[in-house]
Amino acid sequence: MDAGVSESSARRALCHPDGKKSCGACCGMYNHRISDEAALMARLVERTRAFRRDASIEDEASLRAFRARWEDPPEVKLLGELASCPFLGLLDGLDPAGRVGCLVHPLQNQGVDGRDCGVYDRFICEDYLCAAHAVLKRPEVELVIAAVPDSYLYGLVITNPRLIRTFFELAATERGAYPTGQELARDEAIAAARHFFELVRDWPYRDTDGIFGAVVPGEGLETTRRAHPAGDRAMEPVDTLLLGLGTRTLNDSELADARGCMQDAVSAFAAALG
Ligand code: SF4
Ligand code: SF4
Repeated sequence: MDAGVSESSARRALCHPDGKKSCGACCGMYNHRISDEAALMARLVERTRAFRRDASIEDEASLRAFRARWEDPPEVKLLGELASCPFLGLLDGLDPAGRVGCLVHPLQNQGVDGRDCGVYDRFICEDYLCAAHAVLKRPEVELVIAAVPDSYLYGLVITNPRLIRTFFELAATERGAYPTGQELARDEAIAAARHFFELVRDWPYRDTDGIFGAVVPGEGLETTRRAHPAGDRAMEPVDTLLLGLGTRTLNDSELADARGCMQDAVSAFAAALG
């Protein structure tokens, strides 16, 4: 949750892994009906500029006024009741290719903490860890960090451990062994994984709400599992990847193309593991 640069090593490792990118997913970064990269990053630029201009960490009233002005109303969010914090912004000036993070975090503000003015409070912001922290092994995380170049894509990938793990497992099945840490660190493996993860950025068959992957947002906080993109047709192992990419129901030729993309990516990764 905490999108500042926290002291916790677990948090540093996943939430803010390096000086180039970071994750803002649990602050609500993707919880918007228009969540393509250009629109989403443009909103963060605009909001960060307004924060720097209109709000002061020393002035609680200005933070509350900022929240009232910039917090998204339920109707523009994908999950109307899921919080989307207006204090998530850009940390490296207004560079949309840089890190996202908490504009009211004490480490961004000489020790002054404004998180109680956000959609949670400082304790929730500080303590929350998403499933990726428990599910992914360290070499898997390191591969994602090495393969994904920017914050927009990083937050989408790292919060989808099932997609990551399924990709590795399909490659393991193809080559007959789960990759070791050393194999995952190979330059060729990183390049092949990058090719696959880049599909998450703008997957052409993504449903309109597919930014949440295999989960379909409903009313309030309700979610359901996404309908299988193959419909009543026979399933194939790579279809789990299609679900993780938020794929809509596909016709026969689209399905063949989408499955071909997945299989090519898996085979290239398996071959790159050596
Ligand atoms: S105050 Fe908002 S932006 Fe900051 S860590 Fe909490 S939820 Fe995220
Ligand atoms: S969604 Fe997970 S990885 Fe991303 S900032 Fe929150 S706890 Fe960290």
